[in-house]
Amino acid sequence: MEEIDIKTTREVGSFSYKALLMARDMVKPGAKLLDVAQKVESFVKDNGFGCAFPINLSVNEEAAHYTPTLSDEKVFGENDIVKVDFGVAKDGILGDCAVTVDLSEENAKLVDASKKALENAIATIRHGVAVKEIGKVIEDTIESMGFSPIRNLGGHLVKVHELHSDIFVPNYYNGDDTVLEEGMTVAIEPFATSGNRDLIVESDVCEIYGFAGEGLVRSPDSRKVLKEISEKYGSEPFAVRWLSNVISDKFKLYLAIRDLLRSGSIQQYPMLVGSGMITQAEAEVLVTKDGCEVLTK
Ligand code: MN
Ligand code: MN
Repeated sequence: MEEIDIKTTREVGSFSYKALLMARDMVKPGAKLLDVAQKVESFVKDNGFGCAFPINLSVNEEAAHYTPTLSDEKVFGENDIVKVDFGVAKDGILGDCAVTVDLSEENAKLVDASKKALENAIATIRHGVAVKEIGKVIEDTIESMGFSPIRNLGGHLVKVHELHSDIFVPNYYNGDDTVLEEGMTVAIEPFATSGNRDLIVESDVCEIYGFAGEGLVRSPDSRKVLKEISEKYGSEPFAVRWLSNVISDKFKLYLAIRDLLRSGSIQQYPMLVGSGMITQAEAEVLVTKDGCEVLTK
């Protein structure tokens, strides 16, 4: 990896973490999700970064991929367990980190399970480690605390303009011998659940999409939105609410989104849900010869 890439990678990691903590500190009972999202995303832009993806504010049994809608009135509840997942972007270098906020402070053990799993996973990472070994550490840690890891979510290799690249880091021992190598940027993200189902499923809710290619769309509204998406976001996912500058009418905007989805111009990232309370901890690391460097700190 060239020197300039490492410098930007570190800069993106550290700013992602700064933005994450800013969001974390705004998560309070009664606070509007939309306010948190807008403030943090503006802060990122004001500092010369882009968003690697829209901020995810997923509550309780929601595992991931909830981002506020255009006119979202939702507020955090007193007993909510909130997963804040976010990262910034610069020159295609992408950050990705997450933390769980336990508003009632009655779920400390469940929060700790994913946090400890992340710490233990980080301690095992070095050049040549197999991803199944990382998965085993995550699984053992979470199960020793009486919970289950979510098995169909996990960490991932991060490349330029490619947040979820071609190595999957499981949250359990899956037998995969793929090894991590020095110089790789990898996101590690254990999810722990108190539910009886250790797999999450896609819901009908979807506010996050990504550009997939120029499909056949005829309506002027859809074409306008597609132009904005391809020019502004390219390969990085976007939130529907980011497009209100193109079409201010909410109904028309969602119609255009549906049209673009049908034409294959965009892909969807629906909200993912589990069967019980879920916590998450995520960090992005740079794999080194003897260990790893946490970038999102
Ligand atoms: Mn993430
Ligand atoms: Mn991730």
